[in-house]
Amino acid sequence: MDFPYLFSSISVRNMELRNRIVMTAMHLGYTPEGEVTDQLVGFYEARAKGGVGLIIVGGCPIDEYGGMAGMIGLNHDRFIPGLKRLTSAVQAHGAKIAAQLYQAGRYTHSAMIGGRKPFSASAVRSRLTGETPRALEIHEIPAVQDKFAEAALRAKKAGFDAVEILGSAGYLICQFLSPLTNKRDDEYGGPLENRMRFGLEVVQKVRSAVGPDYPILMRIAGNDFMEGSHTNREARIFASELEKVGVDLFNVTGGWHETRVPQLTMFVPRRAYVYLAQGIKSAVSVPVLASNRINDPAIGEEIIRNGEADLVTMARALLADPELPNKAKEGKAHLIYHCVACNQGCFDNIFQLRPASCLVNPRAGKEGELALEPAPKVKKVLVIGGGPAGMKAACIAAERGHKVILMERGDQLGGQILLNRQIPGRQEMLMVAKDLERNLPALGVDIRLHQEAERSIVEEIHPDVVVVATGAQPIRPDIPGAEGPNVVQAWEVLAGRRGVGGRIVIVGGNAVGLETALYLANVGTLSPDVLHFLVTNRAETWDFIEERLNKGNKEVIVVEMAGRMGQDIGLSSRWTVMAELRRLGVALMTATKAVSISEGGVEVEKADGKGFIKADSVVLAMGSRAEAKIADDIRDLVQEVYVIGDAKEPRNALEAIREGFIVGLNI
Ligand code: SF4
Repeated sequence: MDFPYLFSSISVRNMELRNRIVMTAMHLGYTPEGEVTDQLVGFYEARAKGGVGLIIVGGCPIDEYGGMAGMIGLNHDRFIPGLKRLTSAVQAHGAKIAAQLYQAGRYTHSAMIGGRKPFSASAVRSRLTGETPRALEIHEIPAVQDKFAEAALRAKKAGFDAVEILGSAGYLICQFLSPLTNKRDDEYGGPLENRMRFGLEVVQKVRSAVGPDYPILMRIAGNDFMEGSHTNREARIFASELEKVGVDLFNVTGGWHETRVPQLTMFVPRRAYVYLAQGIKSAVSVPVLASNRINDPAIGEEIIRNGEADLVTMARALLADPELPNKAKEGKAHLIYHCVACNQGCFDNIFQLRPASCLVNPRAGKEGELALEPAPKVKKVLVIGGGPAGMKAACIAAERGHKVILMERGDQLGGQILLNRQIPGRQEMLMVAKDLERNLPALGVDIRLHQEAERSIVEEIHPDVVVVATGAQPIRPDIPGAEGPNVVQAWEVLAGRRGVGGRIVIVGGNAVGLETALYLANVGTLSPDVLHFLVTNRAETWDFIEERLNKGNKEVIVVEMAGRMGQDIGLSSRWTVMAELRRLGVALMTATKAVSISEGGVEVEKADGKGFIKADSVVLAMGSRAEAKIADDIRDLVQEVYVIGDAKEPRNALEAIREGFIVGLNI
């Protein structure tokens, strides 16, 4: 077997797991009323079938004060029958299932709890909600802790194999633990010993409720990543005390929701926070679960083999590919569709109160309605265009039994996704193309590169169906000077086909413009390898290193007509892009219209009048237009012609892949 450590069993108190892969709790939005739905059962059943060891569901609010709409209800006995249906469906496929006990304290929005004021350790304003909670009176504390115990017992009655107490991310238990949010002067405030009391008592009460044999897991922050709050040092002390009162496994993650350190985006390197789990592991004797950005079985195997942690979290990784464990176990790891931490389908949807989906797996959350049935009649399908939409359509059509030819005019598959190669923090996107590319031959798709789509070729192939996925072309705006020799398209820069001068104006501040700015502003900064070399050898002063990390050899200015930059970037990623641009000193000018371009720069118009920005090069990032001419050329030749992805209308990769999937399903 390729991954012997990952696929070895492990016991957590009386719970035996078949492997070390854990799907930790994710808010999915599949339970609008708190009741378990068919959608939720179908989703988790698919992951259990796919071979995961343990699924943790939730957060499950323990009371009426600390949750939000659409979470899995665990605060009333009426939820038990539905929860039983969920636990049985998962357990029927050999996986174990745990419920996460959730109380968000000051992270709760009053609007989510009927206008009531949320409570916390102290009345410290939450940056997340903009609200100030009320401090719990000391006599109220036992009742809040009792709710954890009642919910745990309810979970046990509903058939869950374990419970996980949520003590990370800045939620209620963290709020008692941290000096930032605990300003109390009673026995729950002051020194660490007192601040730990609330969490320790919660565990004690849960243990009394569920009995001595039932596993209790706890998710903790390995470092709050909040100035003045806890680091891994205090987290280790807390974990060691928690173990004494009955915690059987620690699920270690990064910081709070209010932290400025990214936790989940592509900017976070793979396995970045494993060191936090390793720190906790040094302080406890029970198993430790490492979390965040572990998206491949090889990484999991390495972590466990190295003794850095005992289990690994693959939550978004299993949203992206429920079959990941089975594929890894059966020697088909090369066919895994990896989570690329784009957050476009999952968190960005959740933040807009929409159910979670996935960029690479449009079936996520729709397991019932989007089943991959064999095609009733096998057809010859020609897909024109090897971008994400075309590749997905080809994969799904082939998986359903059609004979598929994929034609691409370039020398490699991937389309616009390949432009991410140069963008710092975006390279993970290339994995989307790589994964599709590796699945195509395994599904029997006939790939033809360097093949321009022409009517004569289509005539020769004589397909029953043509899928046009020819993408888009960048727009050259009608601005005087836009054809000048100093003007280049952002796509040409990102593809490495055109160089630029030292001072650059980028016209257009949506995703492509900002990502091009990130790329250009990074040119000339220290690479990770050189940084490591300089630091470990103490070759330069820290001030010098910091200066060279944050400043490259180009001056970059972005001008955008709208009042806001990056409007097409999802909420979960936009702030990290903006923070990086600020760090790199990129000048961002909103409400600024480029009116003409000359050899020396760009003339702009703003509310207070005209101005001129000097530039050696001007980069255009003003959107793209659909490119689907071939569709009209062949309509009389082929009965079924579909136009998908950017060829239909330029949008993001999420839409392109979803359309490819749907068309593949409908042929
Ligand atoms: Fe991962 Fe993106 Fe899918 Fe979310 S939408 S699970 S981040 S690939």
